Formats: sequence, C-alpha cells, structure tokens
Amino acid sequence: MVSVPSAGGVLNEDFIGAAVPSSDGGGVAIALDGVSPPAYGETGCVHNPAWFVARLGGALLDLAVTHHDRDLRRCLSEAVSRTAAAHVSTCDLRHVRTPQATVAIVRWGGDEAEYLVLADTVILMESVDGAFSSIIDTRLDEVRARAEFKESNARLRKFVAGTEEWHAAMRAHQEFVDDGFRNKEGGFFTAAGDPGVAARAVHGRLPRAQVRSVGLVTDGAGRWTEVFGRGSWEELFVTLKKQGARRLIDAVREIELSDPGRTRFPRGKMHDDASAVFVEL
Ligand SMILES: [Zn+2]
Repeated sequence: MVSVPSAGGVLNEDFIGAAVPSSDGGGVAIALDGVSPPAYGETGCVHNPAWFVARLGGALLDLAVTHHDRDLRRCLSEAVSRTAAAHVSTCDLRHVRTPQATVAIVRWGGDEAEYLVLADTVILMESVDGAFSSIIDTRLDEVRARAEFKESNARLRKFVAGTEEWHAAMRAHQEFVDDGFRNKEGGFFTAAGDPGVAARAVHGRLPRAQVRSVGLVTDGAGRWTEVFGRGSWEELFVTLKKQGARRLIDAVREIELSDPGRTRFPRGKMHDDASAVFVEL
C-alpha cells in the first residue's frame, strides 16, 4: 500500500491501513479520503482534516479487526461516534463542512468477505476465476450528472484556474454543492459527525473463497481512470496488481505535470492526495 500527499510539505489527508490477522484469523484493509476544507468559509472545527481522518481511520481499523462479529456498518457508526466525541466539546459537528471523509473497507475472515463503501473511494475485486468487479457508491456521480451541477461547473470552466474570477466561481460552486447535496437526502453522503450515515453506505458480503485479490483506491489515484481516461477500472486494477501502487500513483503524477494549466484534464486541484492498497487473500 502507498499513500502520497498532493505536494511536498503538505499534510496528507488520505488514510490507509491494513491489519492481519484479525481475531478470527482474517484481516482488514481500509482507505479513507479526508474531504479538503473549503478554500473559502469556515468548517466549524478547530482541527484539520488530517487530525480527523487519522482518528476516524484508526478507530475504524481498530473496531473492524477487534470485533469481527460486528457488522462493518456498526463498526463505522461506532468509529464516527468515537471521533465525534473527541471534538464535540470544541467544534460544531452539525456544520455542513465539519471534517468528513470517504470510506472504503474490506474485511475477510471465516467463510466471508465483507465490504463497505461511502462516497468516492472505490473497491476493486478479482474473483478466483479471474472475473473483475468494482464496488462504487454512485451517488456523487449522480449529483455530477445533474443539469444544474453541470451548469454550475461550466461557469467555473470559463475562467483560468487561479484567477480572481475563477476563485469567485469556485466559491459559488462549492456553496451550491454544500447547500444542495452534501450529506443531504437526494445528494451524497460522507462520514462526518453523524453515526447514522453508516446505514447509507454501500455494503455487502461474498463467500471468501470467491475472492482472490482486492484493491482500494482514493480518488486522487482513481484519476487515472476517472479524469485522465487512461483505462477502465479493471485496467487500473491490473496496473495496481502487476506494477504496484507506487507505479500507479507515479503515472498519475506524470499526467498531472503534463497538464499544468488543467485544461486538457479539467480538475479542481492540480494534484490530490493519492492512495492505493492491494491485498492478495
Ligand atoms: Zn474539531
């Protein structure tokens, strides 16, 4: 597993981890992506995203590996509660931009493999017969496909990244997303201050014997597929498996540097924290 911050000297707001063996002889792999605070406006919190994502990721890894008999949704719910308790006395956790994260977790043990995904960190899987599958929470993409989202995004693209006009349009776009869709019915959900969000995660179980290998990828590495179109999710998974997480992320950085103006591949951030985990069961 490899996690690379967006730039040197900047705190990495992704969190990855793996633990073997769990209390039933299996294991756990997780990847979280802390949502960057808005470049404009407040979060209601005195902590930074790295503080939040390390707390939440650490708690989730602990709970999942220690309590193999507890459903992953319950583990996530308890991890959110534990993290909330660590700053509810100083921070407003009901703020729409309270620190929050995407979550992907896979746990295997006994006869089962269990998975959970919330927001845009993805799980990729290969079965013993070589078949590929992906586990994706599509709600953010559904928001991005809406006409009003595209209009708001199109206004942003009229300006050169980094200019005053671009910042004004970016601020308006962020507020549009926060007010209309962030942790709202009909929008998309992240792990923030409300433990109830665990019930909204994409969750399921498979016979463990069916699973040969698993990949977990935050969107900073998933750009290879989603933004740069270098290949499908399956092709990304093959790259991760055969060349390794470091090579995948290096390839993402090379493409980003080849498009410094963000014109060929429009994207909010020049680079993003990028993480990939590969597990062979
Ligand atoms: Zn806080």
